[in-house]
Amino acid sequence: MNPEFTILLFYKYVRIDNPEEVRDAQRKLCENLGLKGRLIFAGEGVNVTLEGTKENVKSYIEELEKDSRFLNIHFKRSVGTGDAFPKLSVKARKEIVSLHLENDINPNEMTGIHLKPEELKQWYEEGKEFYVIDMRNDYEFKVGHFKGSVLMPVQNFRDIPSALSHIEHLKGKTVVPVCTGGVRCEKASGLLVREGFTDVYQLDGGIVSYMEKFPAEEFKGTLYVFDRRITMDFDPEDKHEVVGLCDNCNVKTETFANCRNKQCNKKILCCENCRLEDGTAFCSKVCEAFLLEKTA
Ligand SMILES: [Zn+2]
Ligand SMILES: [Zn+2]
Repeated sequence: MNPEFTILLFYKYVRIDNPEEVRDAQRKLCENLGLKGRLIFAGEGVNVTLEGTKENVKSYIEELEKDSRFLNIHFKRSVGTGDAFPKLSVKARKEIVSLHLENDINPNEMTGIHLKPEELKQWYEEGKEFYVIDMRNDYEFKVGHFKGSVLMPVQNFRDIPSALSHIEHLKGKTVVPVCTGGVRCEKASGLLVREGFTDVYQLDGGIVSYMEKFPAEEFKGTLYVFDRRITMDFDPEDKHEVVGLCDNCNVKTETFANCRNKQCNKKILCCENCRLEDGTAFCSKVCEAFLLEKTA
C-alpha cells in the first residue's frame, strides 16, 4: 500500500449520446494526469476503476464533473499501491455491463431499492428475514462473501438471466443482490423486478461500501478486486477470518492461480503447496491430462 496513491471506483447509468467522443477526451485527460486503469463509456453510462496520485485523482474528478452528465456520482476511494494497473485502457462499448438480453434493462427505469450499508447492518442485527444474492463470479465468492448469502450458479455475469430458476423460491421474499461496487446489481436487481420478484433491494455502493463501514463483520473473508491487488479489505488490524479454501487440498488460502492449460485459464483458489514450480496449477485432472498428452 502507498498512501500517496488513490484507487477510484465509480459508475453511473446515464445517457451518453457520444461515447466515442467522451472516450477520446477522457483518454487525453487520464494521460495528462498519469492515471492508469480501465474506463468504459457506453450509451447507457460509465464504469471506471483507476489509480493515480491523490492530487491527480482529485483533479480528474474536478474535470469530470464539469460535464453535467457526470454529476451526483458516488465515488469510492481506497489506498493505492502506485502500481495497481499495468496500463490505461479507455473504451467505448455497447454496454457498461452486459446481461446479453434482447430487451436490456435500463436501471434508471427499473431497478431495486437502494439499501444503505447502515440499513443492511440493521437488518442483520434485527434478525429480519431477507436473502443476500451474490451476483459475482464463483471465484470472487469463494474468497469472501456475506454470511448466509446465495451465490448464483454462473461462471459469468451475463449468464445470470438463464440461472434465475435457482432463486425462483425467493420470488416473494425480501432479496438484496450484491456485487463489488454496485454496477452489476443496478441491472441484476432490475431484472429481478421484471421477472416478478416482489421485494427487491440492492446494496448501495456495493460490498466495497459495506466493508469500508463495517470491516470484518457480516462480510466474511476478503474482497476480490479486478486489479493487481487481487483482494482487498478495510480491516486495519488484518483480523478478518479466512474463508477461502484451496480448490485442490482444502486448506485455508486467499491466493489465486490460473489454470496452466492456457485454453482453460480458469481462475482457482490455490495454496502455496499445491502450485507447480512456475506458480500455476491445474484446475482439474482433465486439464492436467490434456497438457500431458500434448507434451508426450
Ligand atoms: Zn492446496
Ligand atoms: Zn483448467
